[in-house]
Amino acid sequence: MPKILIVGGGYAGFYTAWKLEKWLRAGEAEVTIVDPLPYMTYQPFLPEVAAGSIEPRHAVVALRRHLKKTNVVTAKVTKVDHATKTATITPEVGDEWTMEYDQVVMTAGAVSRTFPIPGVADEAIGLKTIEEAAAIRDKLLTNFAKASNLPAGPARDRLLTVVVVGGGFAGIEVFAELRSFASDLLKNYPGLTIDDTHFHLIEAMGRIMPEVSLETSHWVLKNLAQRDAIVHLDTQLQSAVGGKIELSTGDSFESDLIVWTAGVMANPMVRNTDFPLEQRGRITVKPDLRVVDGETIVPDAWACGDVAATPDLTGKGVGGFCVPNAQHAVRMGKQLAKNLVASLRGESVTDYRHDNLGAVAGLGLNVGVFQSGKIAIKGFPAWIAHRGYHGMAMPSFERKFRVVGGWWNNFWLGRDIVSLDNRERPRAAFEEFASRPKPAAEAAAAPTPEVGTPAGEPGPVYANPAGEKGAPAESETTKPARKAPARKPAAKKAPVAADDASSSDAKVPAAE
Ligand SMILES: Cc1cc2nc3c(=O)[nH]c(=O)nc-3n(C[C@H](O)[C@H](O)[C@H](O)COP(=O)(O)OP(=O)(O)OC[C@H]3O[C@@H](n4cnc5c(N)ncnc54)[C@H](O)[C@@H]3O)c2cc1C
Repeated sequence: MPKILIVGGGYAGFYTAWKLEKWLRAGEAEVTIVDPLPYMTYQPFLPEVAAGSIEPRHAVVALRRHLKKTNVVTAKVTKVDHATKTATITPEVGDEWTMEYDQVVMTAGAVSRTFPIPGVADEAIGLKTIEEAAAIRDKLLTNFAKASNLPAGPARDRLLTVVVVGGGFAGIEVFAELRSFASDLLKNYPGLTIDDTHFHLIEAMGRIMPEVSLETSHWVLKNLAQRDAIVHLDTQLQSAVGGKIELSTGDSFESDLIVWTAGVMANPMVRNTDFPLEQRGRITVKPDLRVVDGETIVPDAWACGDVAATPDLTGKGVGGFCVPNAQHAVRMGKQLAKNLVASLRGESVTDYRHDNLGAVAGLGLNVGVFQSGKIAIKGFPAWIAHRGYHGMAMPSFERKFRVVGGWWNNFWLGRDIVSLDNRERPRAAFEEFASRPKPAAEAAAAPTPEVGTPAGEPGPVYANPAGEKGAPAESETTKPARKAPARKPAAKKAPVAADDASSSDAKVPAAE
């Protein structure tokens, strides 16, 4: 049986595998998909995830759940040597191995593209993964909670200042969504007003959203300005060191949340392959999605999506190539699967051609824009179109149901406003009170337990402050008493409650 290897299970890879499952006959080929993530990410939903309108896990599609006939391998492909038809698979744990294949499909997508601006690599966060979107959501929520304890001033301003770099589609969407989320949050923070929050988008060009007409982009700018969201056009970020934003216009302010959305580039992993790359680092393919080196077809190799430079046969693509978007990636994945099956059967392949359907963007609750040719829809109807389109485009009924169900719940109940920021330190709560074995020397010096009082029994331990004469030998359960000698005996006050009170003493009034 021929072996098909798909490198990357995002939009293009997932759809290729999904359609291969449909169109391959039983026993016709064995398909393996390799991705370090166990899911495909529906990236157009990332701005809504960041704004708390979609639950993070609802915006991803589990590969193992939806690809029933495909071998799903959760690992990275770190090298492809097409000359020998082998790929190096590197899992997170365990040894890497070499996989032999007959046909390879390269769909490793794109990564955030940055410039060497001081501070960006250390302070900013991208918006390409579900983890980034969830982290942005939690950061905004946590910053609101922190800011509510502070008086007006630079520290509070920093927490309530959001900066987005890049005024393309993704940048504007996340900027507008976060603005909408922050405005919504204010009703839960009576001490804060919209004037306390600051939203800045930095765009190097003289306009935003090149996918829509100039007139529509002006409408978006006006709408954002009305919502207290400032767009700095013709402006470059010069430094973000320590969160201090310095702009080419001379403006400077501090921000605790800097989102970088200023472009993407083909996944650099392709440099570890022997496939031909064009100047922007994408694999060169023919319109039928076969890899091509100059005029020569590279046999048994295919590529599509953001990682490939696919000629746009409509003649409308930037530089003659299909723009990197999901609209193309989905359709290319399906076409590639069709062509791969055809080629296995010795049939002819078909060129990929897709006329742009237009662009639709969500700009926060109840606001959107839609542009198709000269037709533009703005405001609420466009927002409905945005949700309608993406609700339908989300792969599988199961995922559609979760996303649309979430919107329905939010409509009636509002967005969830709890930050799960502490999941970054999930062991902290356990560790704070966890007992540890004593160092050997200290254990040897400890008094012997009284007969009939087994070490480790909790009752007497908490009743006796550590080190008191006659106290039982310190065991794991006695450790908290030693850590906090000033604590009152448990008989009067539970140890956990005592710690709670001490940690919040500074903020909670005594009456509470
Ligand atoms: C915030 C945001 C909003 C967007 N909104 C829209 C929109 O509204 N409309 C639209 O059309 N497009 C939109 N896009 C663009 C669209 O999501 C991408 O063009 C599309 O995801 C490209 O699909 P792909 O399969 O090429 O890459 P991806 O979907 O990125 O998939 C690449 C996969 O390769 C995997 N991978 C990476 N390295 C390796 C490796 N070494 N080995 C194996 N696997 C690897 C990755 O984990 C990933 O799963 C948006 C993008 C973003 C970031």
